Amino acid sequence: MGKYDIRIERVKNSKIDEFDSSNLKFGKMLSEHMFVADYTDGKWQDARIIPYGNFEISPANSAIHYGQSIFEGMKAFKNDRGEILLFRPDMNAARFNRSAERMCMAQLPEDLFIEAIQELLRVDKNWIPDAPGSSMYIRPFMFATDSALGVKPSETYRFMVINSPSGPYYAEPVRVKIETDYTRAASGGTGAAKTAGNYAASLFPAQKAKQDGFDQIIWTDGATHTFIEEAGTMNIMFVIDGVLRTCPLTSTILPGVTRDSVLKYAAHKGMEINEAPIKVDELIAAIENKSLTEAFGVGTAVTVSHIKEISYKGKNHNLPPIESRPVANDIHNFLEKVKRGQIEDELGWITKFQ
Ligand SMILES: *Cc1c(COP(=O)(O)O)cnc(C)c1O
Repeated sequence: MGKYDIRIERVKNSKIDEFDSSNLKFGKMLSEHMFVADYTDGKWQDARIIPYGNFEISPANSAIHYGQSIFEGMKAFKNDRGEILLFRPDMNAARFNRSAERMCMAQLPEDLFIEAIQELLRVDKNWIPDAPGSSMYIRPFMFATDSALGVKPSETYRFMVINSPSGPYYAEPVRVKIETDYTRAASGGTGAAKTAGNYAASLFPAQKAKQDGFDQIIWTDGATHTFIEEAGTMNIMFVIDGVLRTCPLTSTILPGVTRDSVLKYAAHKGMEINEAPIKVDELIAAIENKSLTEAFGVGTAVTVSHIKEISYKGKNHNLPPIESRPVANDIHNFLEKVKRGQIEDELGWITKFQ
């Protein structure tokens, strides 16, 4: 048992016998239990794993009205010895607290964050799918629970973890549009925090892009719309003249765990990396003179999402064929296999437990 004395109340009638892991979608189904802890009187209390289900909330709940709400996204896998594997969970725990700080929310001890996830995975271990390509998608989140209509930081919070047995995420190469009207994040805003409102703000422009036939948006800086920022809900990378390029971490960029892992892996492989700002004009020129050989989004859900076409100011630019993209394909292959315990964990990223 861990340090936090998590109370466990199991479901009375488990439905695990009806669980068919062969036909799962991404993020649709939820496992039978959930983790809950409440922050009241200045401390985290009543850590518990209980049957997954609805709960009541005050109509004056301040998260609903003013948006103090943050989350994380992670994945767990089972290796062929039945051990549970997590990929760099310390990175998510630390980012969760940076998001909490920006949103003026309570800090959560990082070891509680990790213990909650591990205990919940142990309880719902049989819900971790083992069909090829599948995973348990983990959603830790925290929201304000004060009920008061005055605008001020809540004094109480709830931290929860829910898990979704998920099927393989076949990331088809995407057609994207460089966005020059709408903004995801402004300098000094909340773009670097994984907070609900950033997503709410992105829905309308994303929907408009879909209606125009694009799968995703490439966000540009809010002030001038001349610098590349992110791809939808992923960090974005390019290979230009053989150099791996991505934008620097600023207040408008979400510091992805996948982004960090890709950069560390590429450096480990001896690849040249450049984290300088990327001008849209420079990018388009690199496509036109063929010095750009790869473009892809990186994030936990898909690991790598190839970009096949970029549209800018109404003009479409086709990118090189996916088969001729050694960098992104190698990165994808390495990360997927390491996460599943299928190759050696050269960089020491895996937490393994029974
Ligand atoms: C979560 C997220 C990412 C990817 O982060 P990972 O830790 O790699 O999953 C990138 N951009 C945005 C806006 C995000 O919310």
